[in-house]
Amino acid sequence: MTDSEGTPYRPHLETEVQFLKGVGSRYLPQFHKLGIHTVGDLLRHFPRRYEDRRSLPPMSGLREGIFATVRGEITRVQSRPTRGGKVILNATLEDRTGQVNLMWFNQPWMARQLEKYGGELIAYGMVRESRMGWEIANPEIETIEDDEDVADFARIVPVYPLTEGLPQRTIRRAVRNALTQVVDQVEDPLPRDFRKANDLDPLVTSLREIHLPTDDLARDRARRRLVFDEFFYLQVGLQLRRRAAQRELGIAFPISQLSGAPMEPTSVFEGTSALAEGGTLWDEVHAMLPFELTGAQRRVIHEIWRDMERPAPMNRLVQGDVGSGKTAVAACALLAAVRCGWQGAMMAPTEILAEQHYINLHRLFDPLGIPVVLLVGKLTASQRRSARQRTASGEARIAVGTHALVQEGVEFAKLGLAVVDEQHRFGVLQRAALRMKGTMADVLVMTATPIPRTLAMTQYGDLDLSVIDELPPGRKPIKTHWKRADDRDSVYAGVRKLIDEGRQAYFVCPMISDSERLQTQAAQDLHYRLSQQEFEGRRVGLLHGQMKPAEKETVMNQFRAHELDILVSTVVIEVGVDVPNASVMVIEDAHRFGLAQLHQLRGRVGRGAHQSFCVLIGEATSEDTRQRLQIMTETNDGFRIAEADFRLRGPGELAGTRQSGMADLLIADLTSDGRILEEAREAAIQLLDGDPDLSRPEHAPLLRRVQAVRADFAMATIS
Ligand code: ADP
Ligand code: MG
Repeated sequence: MTDSEGTPYRPHLETEVQFLKGVGSRYLPQFHKLGIHTVGDLLRHFPRRYEDRRSLPPMSGLREGIFATVRGEITRVQSRPTRGGKVILNATLEDRTGQVNLMWFNQPWMARQLEKYGGELIAYGMVRESRMGWEIANPEIETIEDDEDVADFARIVPVYPLTEGLPQRTIRRAVRNALTQVVDQVEDPLPRDFRKANDLDPLVTSLREIHLPTDDLARDRARRRLVFDEFFYLQVGLQLRRRAAQRELGIAFPISQLSGAPMEPTSVFEGTSALAEGGTLWDEVHAMLPFELTGAQRRVIHEIWRDMERPAPMNRLVQGDVGSGKTAVAACALLAAVRCGWQGAMMAPTEILAEQHYINLHRLFDPLGIPVVLLVGKLTASQRRSARQRTASGEARIAVGTHALVQEGVEFAKLGLAVVDEQHRFGVLQRAALRMKGTMADVLVMTATPIPRTLAMTQYGDLDLSVIDELPPGRKPIKTHWKRADDRDSVYAGVRKLIDEGRQAYFVCPMISDSERLQTQAAQDLHYRLSQQEFEGRRVGLLHGQMKPAEKETVMNQFRAHELDILVSTVVIEVGVDVPNASVMVIEDAHRFGLAQLHQLRGRVGRGAHQSFCVLIGEATSEDTRQRLQIMTETNDGFRIAEADFRLRGPGELAGTRQSGMADLLIADLTSDGRILEEAREAAIQLLDGDPDLSRPEHAPLLRRVQAVRADFAMATIS
């Protein structure tokens, strides 16, 4: 191929992949399916794993339980049907020292492929010892056909993620061509000194070595560089955003000057005197709350007030496990805002929760003469008008509602602080909407879903973090039991006993489908069964998503007032509901729930002084579910559960991360690359300390790269 001037055609990073030698249009649909459109995309299609073929083990050297690559010739192929109507294919692979049986289930095309194939073949998989000798079930295989493959054989070979119909060989050849023809043109955004200081290899070397490693060490170094890159540009972007936010002018709440009486707000206030405990606002807090704050709550309140006092807008995330007392912390932040003459908003993901917050906040603030209003959908038109009007006039000092508060453009006379509860349900986008209302209100985000540190650093890297890492005193750890369906009777007997002792119970019904209707049906069935049979004579209530808000409220109020012994519910009670006398939670078909969800559900009990129990009724339908249920019985620690969840499901599945684009990490792994992430973050901070807007000429390529990453990132999250 030549270009218009007749010089030999030289592909570059933006060249479409089909113009690369050895690709052509035959496999184009498959390349596109893998997201590979250009040669640059191809270079960033990293191997899934590697096979060390420098010295393949002879078959006589195989061992039980190892993953091995073996090379040999197919000497026999045989298919046989099973009783279930499936087909098992056995093929014997031999070398000079022995043989191994390759086995496939129900893959007739494999039989056809093997029968007509006469040459050498390599197979990869887990080696097992069977009656007939060594065996590999469902191996990956590759035929060895032309010279090129043989030449490229005795080395560490990359294995790429594939899609149906695309041979491993084709993609390997394409990458090899890209490496010889194009990789030199790749610009390294990191200056040499920076690389040196951070012990990073040049980008071109790293791209070569990640695809065709010379040895393990070189490959590890290449990976480190590429993982570092992936984190680093993101961290620089987050740091830039963070620094920009800190330069903005927000409200400086004059908290340390409070004499206990409301003060006029000042928007630029430089007071920095410490909020030492013993100040008047603390006195008011102590008088307001019916309990002593824990040390962790006090520390976090202090962090929040300190933020509020600064002129830059607060962007703080409060993490606290279920039951750690986040509501009290929010109340203290709101109190400070109100006492400085501003209004506060408290937003929850559901109406039930909003009401719960309203009840709690009203109880705390009413005695102080601070009017609180509730703004939710179920209000009558005139109630709503009045609540809105009181908010707009500034008479209502605190408005509680769902995110509709933001979306429906409720007017505030002087909104100074917005508290957003249960971030993972609320969504990142609403956070943006809040800011877009034009006010530079302080924002406090509260989440009960502990986030592993790596995720917090990537997803919330622009927020400050406070952790309530202590539970209120006197709590007895919840005892969690995992029972089979067969044990139901004894579980129910246990629940009856607790009810007779004056406690209350939650029953969460199985999550059978996404269909709200089927879900409701399941709850109704369980409610019928429990109220008519196992718990006949006890007061059993029902709560599900299809009930009208007023009906839900009635049921919740009955349960709160102990007019019900049992509440049968769908997952609508997952977050936030707080009834301290409820001390047992039975989760039916627990294996259908995710770990984070189970933990949230369990958090509904263990809120009072009584010993609480959580019973998971479920079957280990897979190794994964077994581990999930097992972990639940072993720990109450939300952070440990979050880490386990992260390990089992991967970051892409964790709530909210999809939107943030973090699931798109190409090579970095948030579960295992935490150290590199810390290094990248540290390096980003240092870099910006030295060159705050990346204006030095040697940083120009780096800035371009950061902007490219940020553009992707900003589309999905806030900015
Ligand atoms: P969460 O962090 O899950 O939102 P809540 O704020 O609902 O937790 O608090 C859980 C329960 O603990 C509530 O009943 C609350 O009144 C109580 N609580 C909170 N802080 C304390 C404390 N320091 N001492 C005693 N009880 C507390
Ligand atoms: Mg809460």
